[in-house]
Amino acid sequence: MAGSSEKIYSIDTKTLIKVLSNILEVMRTNEKYLTKLDADIGDADHGINMVRGFEKVMELISQQNPEDIGTVLQLTGMGLLQVVGGAAGPLYGMLFLEASKPLKGKKEMTVQDFVSMLEAGLRAVVTTGGGTQPGEKTMVDVLHPVVEKLKKMVSERSDLDFVTVLEEIVPYARECVIKTIPMLAKRGRASYLGERSIGHQDPGATSTYLIIRTFLDTLKGRKGVKISEYDESSGKMLKEEYI
Ligand code: ADP
Ligand code: MG
Repeated sequence: MAGSSEKIYSIDTKTLIKVLSNILEVMRTNEKYLTKLDADIGDADHGINMVRGFEKVMELISQQNPEDIGTVLQLTGMGLLQVVGGAAGPLYGMLFLEASKPLKGKKEMTVQDFVSMLEAGLRAVVTTGGGTQPGEKTMVDVLHPVVEKLKKMVSERSDLDFVTVLEEIVPYARECVIKTIPMLAKRGRASYLGERSIGHQDPGATSTYLIIRTFLDTLKGRKGVKISEYDESSGKMLKEEYI
C-alpha cells in the first residue's frame, strides 16, 4: 500500500482503524493550532476536544477489536459522544454514528460507501446543529460541498479509486476551509461575536478538512499533516508539512 501507485477500490476494517489512529496523531500535532483558531472566535478548546475524543475512540477500538467497518464507525461516534462536551462532541459523535449505518456489517468500504457514509454524516451534523446551512461558518461549509462534489464525481465517472477521488477532494476541502474566513458566524459560540467573527478561519471546518485529508495520507502511506505556518490574525492555513 505505502507509496505504491496501485489503485485502491476499497478500504478494509484494518485500514480504517489505521486512518483513525492517524487522525489522533494529526489532532495531537495540530492541537495548539486548532485551539488558537477557537481562541479567536470561541472558547479555546477545539484542539483539546478533538484530542480527547480521538484518544477515547482509539481506547474503545483497542478494547473491543471490532471486525467490521460499521462497528468501527459506531465506536468512533460513541467515543466522541462520551468524552467531548460542547458543540463538537455531539456534532462529530452523531456524524460518525449515522455514518456507521450504511456500513453496518461490512468489512470493505467502497468509494460509493464512502460517499454514502459522508452523506449520512452530513445529515446528522445538520440535524444535530439545528438545521445548519452552508455559509454559516461551521464544519458544514466543508462537509456540504465535499458531499456534493463526491456525488457528482461518482455519478459521472465509473471505476473511481480512492486515491483519485481523494486527491481531487482534499484540495477542494482546503479551499472550502479558507472560504470560511470572510463568513459571519451564525451557529455555535462564534455566532455570539457577530461581525467580529468575520476574518477568522473556522476551527470545526479546519478539523473536518484534517480528518478528510488523513484518509488520503493514510492510503498513501503517510500519517497526515501539521499546519506548520498560518496567518496570525485570521488563522489562515499557509503551509502544511507531513508528520
Ligand atoms: P464548542 O463551540 O462547544 O466549544 P468546539 O470548540 O469543539 O465546541 O467546536 C466548535 C466548532 O463546532 C465550530 O468551529 C463549528 O465548526 C462547529 N459548530 C458549532 N456549532 C455548530 C452547529 N450548530 N452546526 C454545525 N457546526 C457547528
Ligand atoms: Mg470551543
